[in-house]
Amino acid sequence: SELLRVENLHVSVEGKEILKGIDLTINKGEIHVVMGTNGAGKSTLANAIMGNPVYEVTEGSITFDGEDITEEAVNDRAKAGIFMSFQNPIAIPGITVENFIRTSKATVTGENVRALAFKKELKEKMDELSFDASYAQRYVNEGFSGGERKKNEILQMSILNPKLAMLDETDSGLDVDAVRIVSDGVDRFHTKDNAVLIITHHNSILQKLKPDFVHVLINGKIVKTGDASLVADIESKGYDAYKALV
Ligand code: ADP
Ligand code: MG
Ligand code: MG
Repeated sequence: SELLRVENLHVSVEGKEILKGIDLTINKGEIHVVMGTNGAGKSTLANAIMGNPVYEVTEGSITFDGEDITEEAVNDRAKAGIFMSFQNPIAIPGITVENFIRTSKATVTGENVRALAFKKELKEKMDELSFDASYAQRYVNEGFSGGERKKNEILQMSILNPKLAMLDETDSGLDVDAVRIVSDGVDRFHTKDNAVLIITHHNSILQKLKPDFVHVLINGKIVKTGDASLVADIESKGYDAYKALV
């Protein structure tokens, strides 16, 4: 059944139009991949779906789980079950990984998250990600390597358990082992009741994850939608053929 419907979405940043009419429907159980040239608007699309106020919707709509959320605030979208992993996760000095994720979970679920049960859940999820438990007491992303920042994003996702997880180049800059850990983490998370939108430049994150649809985004428009074979095709041939479709 339908989870997300983006219709004729136009988005501007600082008065400049970046997305120029995006249509995208994601059903529960599906994995979608968005590829595209640098600066095409991939991160803008994810940010607009998440509700980042820097990204102004000037036309079109976003419907999630049957509700029009085009005007809703980030927090309400998170509560509704949308999650975004950032391309460049920032450090949050003074706040530990454990406190940050526990507070996020309490906010998103609206429930009191009990400390002991949470510690146990966090430990289990960190083990699955080969993420040393000591990192729970470190400040969020402070002094973390690129790979550790991305693991921390996947850790948040697996604990918040959203209905729609958007991963913005979570695999970029990772070594092959880390890509596999991230890919396995997303595979464990993904069920027939949720959906994943993966922004990537690489085939390797898709070893285990089988995308249902691959979208090519160029200059603010989806110029082509196809199956998983598009990823390898683009990796070997580049975007020239797709630029001609703009
Ligand atoms: P992609 O993720 O496909 O590489 P982005 O969505 O990040 O592309 O960027 C698309 C365009 O929008 C770029 O020209 C970029 O400079 C601009 N843009 C994106 N986010 C911002 C922002 N927060 N402030 C200013 N310009 C932005
Ligand atoms: Mg980019
Ligand atoms: Mg980007």
